[in-house]
Amino acid sequence: MATVSPVFGTTQSIKGLLDHTIVDKFRDLPQNGKIAAEYVWLGGTGADLRSKTKTLDKIPKSPADLPKWNYDGSSTGQAPGTDSEVYLVARAIYKDPFRGGDNILVMADAYEPPRQIADDKMSELKPIPTNTRFACMKVMEDEKVKAEEPWFGIEQEYTLLNSVTKWPLGWPACGYPGPQGPYYCSAGAGCAIGREIVEAHLKCCYYAGINISGVNAEVMPAQWEFQVGPCQGMDAGDQLWMSRYILLRLGEMFNVDVTLDPKPIPGDWNGAGGHCNYSTNSTRKEGTGWDAIKEQIAKLEKRHAVHIAGYGEGNERRLTGKHETSSMHEFSWGVANRGASIRVGRTVPVDKCGYYEDRRPSSNLDPYVVTKLIAETTLLM
Ligand code: ADP
Ligand code: MN
Ligand code: MN
Ligand code: MN
Ligand code: MN
Repeated sequence: MATVSPVFGTTQSIKGLLDHTIVDKFRDLPQNGKIAAEYVWLGGTGADLRSKTKTLDKIPKSPADLPKWNYDGSSTGQAPGTDSEVYLVARAIYKDPFRGGDNILVMADAYEPPRQIADDKMSELKPIPTNTRFACMKVMEDEKVKAEEPWFGIEQEYTLLNSVTKWPLGWPACGYPGPQGPYYCSAGAGCAIGREIVEAHLKCCYYAGINISGVNAEVMPAQWEFQVGPCQGMDAGDQLWMSRYILLRLGEMFNVDVTLDPKPIPGDWNGAGGHCNYSTNSTRKEGTGWDAIKEQIAKLEKRHAVHIAGYGEGNERRLTGKHETSSMHEFSWGVANRGASIRVGRTVPVDKCGYYEDRRPSSNLDPYVVTKLIAETTLLM
């Protein structure tokens, strides 16, 4: 196992010595027909993203054209060293904003190594326990679910940290900024902290083909939000995970840490959520949609505890009933109510159709788990 010598400090401080402008000199060199595919997958904690590069000889048209691959699962907490191979299957392709050109980012998921399975029997592959995408795919592929064309719009809140002190970016060393109030959707030095990263992320997502629908500064300084969606079915989870990967890569370049912790600073500071906006053919249908929404909410109420259990680690630190959250212990819903589990927009009862917002998921949500639960509860129960 590699160790970092204390003489050199952390890897972060070594990174600070590197000059990014040197890399830029080689970025536009021709690649002699080669294409770099960066395979990205979920590691063993369920919250970590891992990736490695595979060189291809031609441009793939779809994920099915991409070779199956494998990695050392003993190094990601996903397999024993004695039988360490984990199998990777490509699922979605995005343009790579870092390498540019024809290079791609690939969202992949992980399976037990095929022992005697021919390539045409991929359906017999067994997902490893941390492959949450697989169960999500099973639900999204259900005929009833497909017919309803479920759309998800996920609001990803996150907090930027000084990578050396691990304290929010731009906050006074060993101290706190002025109380919350001026920061949400703000502009100005000392208010909107870290916009360089937010802007770079927005452009990278557009380029990659991620359906990013907006960005805004959040209530706590150094906290930001972006939204991905509406995306149908599996695209929601795939795109949100890939947008997070892009954010981590930008953090690397700016030497800034990104945390998805649901309550990075205890006390009178807003936590970070991952609200999930949701609609289906039934809820979007004029006239009857509002009734369909009320039926779906009643189903969600019955499975509150199951949803909460899958809505993010440490969410109990955030869902206190304060700071624009609902209590974790009771289910509630309301029109325009930001203190409820589910918020229905003002226009929905008027238009008699539309979408609603599940405010319970925390910022570190696994979108495969959350979208699976919502589709399952509202469409299959
Ligand atoms: P908020 O008012 O809660 O801050 P945002 O504007 O941040 O809401 O996010 C709303 C999200 O809902 C966006 O990602 C948007 O694309 C998504 N959305 C819009 N219409 C629908 C719909 N019909 N179904 C699902 N999601 C939707
Ligand atoms: Mn090796
Ligand atoms: Mn929002
Ligand atoms: Mn928000
Ligand atoms: Mn919201």
